[in-house]
Amino acid sequence: MANETNIFAALIAHCKEYGYIFQSSEIYDGLAAVYDYGQNGAQLKKNIRDEWWKSMTQLNDNIVGIDAAIFMHPTTWKASGHVDNFSDPMIDNKDSNKRYRVDHLIEGFAEEQKAMGNEQLANDTITAMDALLAANDYAGLKKLIEDNKIKCALSKTSNWTEVREFNLMFSTQIGSVAEESETIYLRPETAQGIFVNFLNVQKTGRMKIPFGIAQTGKAFRNEIVARQFIFRMREFEQMEMQFFVRPGSQMQWYEYWKTERKKWLESMGLPAGKLRYHNHVKLAHYADAALDIEFEFPFGWKELEGIHSRTDFDLKQHQEHSKKKIQYFDNDIDESTGKAYGNYTPFVVETSVGLDRLFLTIMSLAYVEEKWTKEDGAEDSRVVLKIPTKIAPTKLAILPLLKKDNLPEIAKELMDECKQSFHCFYEEKDAIGKRYRRMDAIGTPFCVTIDHQTKEDGTVTIRYRDTMTQERVKMSEVKGLVLGKIG
Ligand code: ATP
Repeated sequence: MANETNIFAALIAHCKEYGYIFQSSEIYDGLAAVYDYGQNGAQLKKNIRDEWWKSMTQLNDNIVGIDAAIFMHPTTWKASGHVDNFSDPMIDNKDSNKRYRVDHLIEGFAEEQKAMGNEQLANDTITAMDALLAANDYAGLKKLIEDNKIKCALSKTSNWTEVREFNLMFSTQIGSVAEESETIYLRPETAQGIFVNFLNVQKTGRMKIPFGIAQTGKAFRNEIVARQFIFRMREFEQMEMQFFVRPGSQMQWYEYWKTERKKWLESMGLPAGKLRYHNHVKLAHYADAALDIEFEFPFGWKELEGIHSRTDFDLKQHQEHSKKKIQYFDNDIDESTGKAYGNYTPFVVETSVGLDRLFLTIMSLAYVEEKWTKEDGAEDSRVVLKIPTKIAPTKLAILPLLKKDNLPEIAKELMDECKQSFHCFYEEKDAIGKRYRRMDAIGTPFCVTIDHQTKEDGTVTIRYRDTMTQERVKMSEVKGLVLGKIG
């Protein structure tokens, strides 16, 4: 375990050193649970987002994508239930003033007990917690914390306040100070932008049920337990798809998307053995079935994606609050009655994955420290990011062996030929071995070296990141070779 913790710390340091992720506003000592993506991180994140977008909107002819605004009419959040219900039970330690999410505090205790070999106590505590959360029994949760003498990590005391609800939405004002201003929220999920546009998209796209609307974008939550790097952030990005179906068919589509989404995650390089389903014990107010697809992160099994059967709750709520009819006319024939299905409020199955969390899974799988003994007996090592080729930020590094003898000019010719098709990187400084190591560290799958032989026979050396093997190929074939591997 200690080792795994070290690997996670090494991954965080690596993300910073190689331009993947920086702490937000680092020069001002940072802002908790907010991160910036650097030159390589932004490209990797875009590549992941593009894969998701393609898999949803291009590979499914009944799913279209939209891009709704972050700001929405404040009634949206009243209708969705977020103003009244989007809160977590919290507890404060009176000595340190540190605030905890109750479930995280108890889960942390259970994990400690497990590590100490008290498996039974850990399991019993989690079972008790789940039951108390499901019953909204806050006094019971406080008692569970006190009975187990759970302590604050800072003060090391068990001097706790009552358990209270804390809304996770950020709010701000719209309108200038002189005008009458109104409180609006930074959206805590992208889904509502889809629901309020249901009719717009259905009508203008002439969409027939079942169909889906997909969207990627920023969401904001005032998370109290801001920890585990980009796993839990206050500003993050979601990739959500709402699939509108006939009432009564939601369970069939729920099963369908449950399977499809796990398959897609596997297609992104996540091994099946590191993914599992976790059914929700306590269903959200809008759901009739819900599960998480969990991933085995370096710090344990955690939610990566949610699949929720949201019933007709959201559309009905928006209909009620907006006083606009939100229905679908289905002229297909219902075989059991022989009549058209007619007007109804569609049911919804949602798939919702955190882009940043998926980024973290991909990085934690990609990060490898390798050590080996060379032929001359000397030890060698490298750190390599084995990011799947199709999403690697840079596909090809083009490296003239020397900065003379016309080698840079030939290299730039290759660069010009390839850069229209995929992201390339040109570098002429430092010894070639050093340049290969830098490319390994940012996860570039192919390096091509232009040397004097290139001038004689038009061949170059291509080096493969994962195996470090090298071969000579014709320079004119490099572009096709890389394109073949990306596909
Ligand atoms: P958690 O239980 O971890 O707080 P959640 O159940 O509240 O997550 P959902 O509301 O289902 O999450 O959001 C869908 C997805 O959005 C999650 O599966 C996760 O990948 C991502 N997500 C949610 N909150 C955050 C966050 N604070 N930082 C990064 N990603 C997040």
